[in-house]
Formats: sequence, C-alpha cells, structure tokens
Amino acid sequence: MICRKRIFLFFCLTVLTFAFCVSSYADNIVSSTGFDNDKKTKRIALTFDDGPHPRFTPQILEVLGEYGIKATFFVIGVNVQNYYESYQKIIDSGCEIGNHTYSHANLNFADSKAIRDEILLCADAIAGGDSDRLLRPPQGACNTEVKRIASELQYDLVFWTIDTMDWAHTGTKEIIDTVLLNASDGDIILMHDYVSGKSHACEALRVIIPELLSRGFEFVTVSEMMSK
Ligand SMILES: [Zn+2]
Repeated sequence: MICRKRIFLFFCLTVLTFAFCVSSYADNIVSSTGFDNDKKTKRIALTFDDGPHPRFTPQILEVLGEYGIKATFFVIGVNVQNYYESYQKIIDSGCEIGNHTYSHANLNFADSKAIRDEILLCADAIAGGDSDRLLRPPQGACNTEVKRIASELQYDLVFWTIDTMDWAHTGTKEIIDTVLLNASDGDIILMHDYVSGKSHACEALRVIIPELLSRGFEFVTVSEMMSK
C-alpha cells in the first residue's frame, strides 16, 4: 500500500514538473519573439549598421522622420569620430544607438584584449549614447569569448532575423520582397546606413514602412523589442 502511495506521489510530481517545464519553455519563446499577448500589436525593429556616414544616414533619418519611426543604429566608433555631425543627427532624431565595435573588426579573429578594446573604444566614441548597451558584432561573428566579454561588460548581443543584403548593392525590389514576404511579429531587420557604392535602402524603405504600417505593425527600437 505504501509502495502504491509512493508511486502515485511520484506520478503527481512528474506531471507537475512537466507542466512547469512546458510553461517556462513557452514563456521563453514568447519573450524571444517579442510577441505580446496583451497588446495584440505586431512589432518590428529596423536596424542600420556601419554608419554614421553623411551619404546615407541623413537620408534614412529623413524617411524615418516622415513616418515618425524610431530605429536602432549600430555605429562604428571610427565613423562616429570621422562623421560626428551625422552621428549627432541620429541622436537628435531620438533613434537608438548600438555598439558595432570601433573598427568593424571580425571579433572571432581577435584575442581577448582586442575584443574588449573594440567594444570599449566604440563606447568612448559614442560617449554615453548607447545607454541600453546593445552590441552587434560585425558579420554576426560571435564566439564564446566574445559572448563572455560582452556579458562581462554588460552588453546585450543583438543579431537579426531578416537580412536585406542591402550592403551587396541588392536592388530595391529584392529588398522590398525580402522584408514584405517574411515580416512577422518580433522580427529585427538588418539594413545599413553605410555601404561602399550604391545603396537602395532608402527607396526600399519608402515602400516597406507604409506597407508594414498598413498591415498593423508597430516599429520599435531593439531595446523596446527586448523589453516587451
Ligand atoms: Zn557591419
């Protein structure tokens, strides 16, 4: 009899543990996609890497401003120093700043000191503009040492879910299609406000933004997305 009771107790504990695990797992998925059950609003974040630069940053800010949208700019420290006026325009627009290292180094090939220097020198150039401490490693290169140092310096690592490939001089229609055919709640879109040569990001944004707004999306910054 005692044995049966023990078996029953064990069964109950197992069921409860399973239910708890499923619930915790579901919570984690919800937060990672940025989905908010209460609001029922689809949210999406535009991000721009590799600037600031006088050629494209002001144009992109102008489009964002026309629609009253805030995006996140992952800036390169040396570009902030060289094109401070363009950087100031991002700050003045109220858009969010993230750290994209000082010299756009591939951190997977850097030693611990170089990883730290790349992050901290960019932070110095930004001069407090990255209050949310967001780090996007160039090319998404992020080995365990990069993760360790980012965590030690209290940076959140930020990647993307939709890559427009605009840096490769991708055509306007292709950029538009990539975003509009894939956009869903919680997506982070990767674009660039500096590329060498031609960029079709601005023309694409003039189609992408109104279309996503008409589909009921709300544009948010990365930190807003992460905090739900
Ligand atoms: Zn980059």
